Amino acid sequence: MTTMLELREVSRRFERRPDAIEKLAGLLGAKVSAQTVHAVDRVSFEVRRGEVVGLVGESGCGKSTLGRMIAGLLPPSAGEIRFKGQPLGAKAGLTRQAQRARRLQLQMIFQDPMSSLNPRMTVGDSIGEAALVHGLSTREGLADHVAALMRQVALDPAYASRYPHQFSGGQRQRICIARALAVQPEFLVCDESVAALDVSIQAQIINLFQQLREQLQLTYLFISHDLGVVRHLADRVLVMYLGRVVESAPTEALFDQPRHPYTRALLDQVPRLHGGRQQFRPIQGEIASALNPPSGCHFHTRCPQAGPRCRLEAPALVMQHGHAVACHLHQGGVQ
Ligand code: SF4
Repeated sequence: MTTMLELREVSRRFERRPDAIEKLAGLLGAKVSAQTVHAVDRVSFEVRRGEVVGLVGESGCGKSTLGRMIAGLLPPSAGEIRFKGQPLGAKAGLTRQAQRARRLQLQMIFQDPMSSLNPRMTVGDSIGEAALVHGLSTREGLADHVAALMRQVALDPAYASRYPHQFSGGQRQRICIARALAVQPEFLVCDESVAALDVSIQAQIINLFQQLREQLQLTYLFISHDLGVVRHLADRVLVMYLGRVVESAPTEALFDQPRHPYTRALLDQVPRLHGGRQQFRPIQGEIASALNPPSGCHFHTRCPQAGPRCRLEAPALVMQHGHAVACHLHQGGVQ
């Protein structure tokens, strides 16, 4: 399989400016300065054509920011994202038109379909708009194009003249998927795309993603906090903690033999039945603030195996036999 997407040392920082109270305190002589949120910190990985890569981690770990950078909705502060061998963004040296065409190949599907659809547009117009604007359909052929897309996501084309509020949550997510497919993408970034749906509807949408993968040879980055969903869909999983990738492995290897203490803790907090009882162990402590991340290994404030080295030195992500882990336990010890 060829490499479709490549991230090299990608970081994203946000400046948090002082709020009104802090500004007032500053006027009164207190020392107030802008703070930096390190949302994504030197992340590198590849996605091969046709692969489904799952990206997991607690809320606030930077996975959605990473997804938005890949989809071109947010520029990285540092590092490079390459799509099909060429850098994304201004560095690519392509004409605007060529850049726009390449952008269309990367589409994003969000968690809340209601807020990503225009309530005043019919679903037919929502689905067909981008195809028309980008010259992928003529005005005369648009109705047929929209009908074919609606059938592809198992929606009745007769409903094209209805509005988003007239559909259920699952149907609205199908509309968003049809809208993304309208511009013939090759890569879909799905950000918690089934999280807002009932469990039975989740299964239907997951099946739809799988069908589309086979029919259209799509590649996915599937961002989710739900390990069960990722295990079902992904070929490979990346685990993020506080802006950094801490483990990456083929799905079976990651779930059967997790190596990073954070991955083990994430898996332990998934409820499972044991002797007729539900068991789970929540991760101790809160995720630290990205405004002031802990030194060394970011996880050391919550890690039951942390040692003195962990507070001082950030572990590198080291690959061994296709399984990468960033932890001193696997790189000479924590002392
Ligand atoms: Fe825990 Fe240390 Fe490994 Fe970090 S490097 S996960 S603190 S053992």
